[in-house]
Amino acid sequence: MTKSSFEMLKLSEIIGNGVAIRILRSALTQNKPACAYLFSGPPGVGKKTAAYAFAMALLCEKGGDDACGVCGQCRKVTTGSHPDLTYVEPIVKDKKVKEEIDIESVREIIRKLSFRPYEGKRKILIVDQVEKMNLVASNAFLKTLEEPPGDTVIILTTENMSRLLLTILSRLQKVRFMPLKFEEILRFATEKAGLRGEQAEAYAALSKGAPGMMSEDSIEKEKEIRNFALTLFGERDAKWDADIMKMADKIDRSKERGLVDKVLESFVELLADLVRVKTKGKCDSLVNKDIVDKLFSISPRFSRRKLLRAWDVSSELVRARRWNINPFLTINLLALELKR
Ligand SMILES: [Zn+2]
Repeated sequence: MTKSSFEMLKLSEIIGNGVAIRILRSALTQNKPACAYLFSGPPGVGKKTAAYAFAMALLCEKGGDDACGVCGQCRKVTTGSHPDLTYVEPIVKDKKVKEEIDIESVREIIRKLSFRPYEGKRKILIVDQVEKMNLVASNAFLKTLEEPPGDTVIILTTENMSRLLLTILSRLQKVRFMPLKFEEILRFATEKAGLRGEQAEAYAALSKGAPGMMSEDSIEKEKEIRNFALTLFGERDAKWDADIMKMADKIDRSKERGLVDKVLESFVELLADLVRVKTKGKCDSLVNKDIVDKLFSISPRFSRRKLLRAWDVSSELVRARRWNINPFLTINLLALELKR
């Protein structure tokens, strides 16, 4: 039961997901938290950060709608040494390939929750990615949810609500987390990740609203993938033909699984942006906001009809990829479609 590294924040310091944070702060103001919460949403949008921030506020000596961040209780949460805060996440056990939360972890949870709080006002349990709790463990955990100890607040997070037992779901107060808006993630990039100018904009565009998924390496990787997709929109001459062949070959040989699917995904996003640029001129809803100038220089070379046609073909290819159509062929088909 280790805590993966991430930055401990107060609720008021969290960027984005204003609705979710307001729900939590309102429960704190009234001092009436629910017995059990489910924070749902895609990976990397801040569910775990919010769970810890909420836990810290619930344990804080000062009370109110946020943690003070400096009292003894808050400091213990920050350093991961608070005896009344339990964190559980899926782990890989010996001889198993899949990470999961098993019955042993749940027995440990039940044991810990059976004690009175050591020093805090209440006990807090955070279970990360609860959808990875196996069936036996889920059934055992259900009993805890049915009769939670009175002084306990349980916070579960999930990326996939549809994989939870209905009997569990029905006992939880749901709080939804969404991908961050471009402006929010730009703020995150400058304030939290310390990026500036072009780099911050690239981060905001490429992270697709999930700052928790991005590292410096992954920004570079995402840039490379997008550059592959941008190559397809290049000036159509002999050099372009050669570039496409080289790229298709490189992607085909790449050991990285799913690379061609990521290029395909990026290609579809670029198509959508180009159609937006063509339809509305300057437009705020672009995904690839950091390369607006480039999009404007590409868009006059293709008719709207051609872009939409390429969209159809790439959607077909997304489906065909499920049948394992090979990467080399995929890239060449995309190139051909734009060339016609
Ligand atoms: Zn405090």
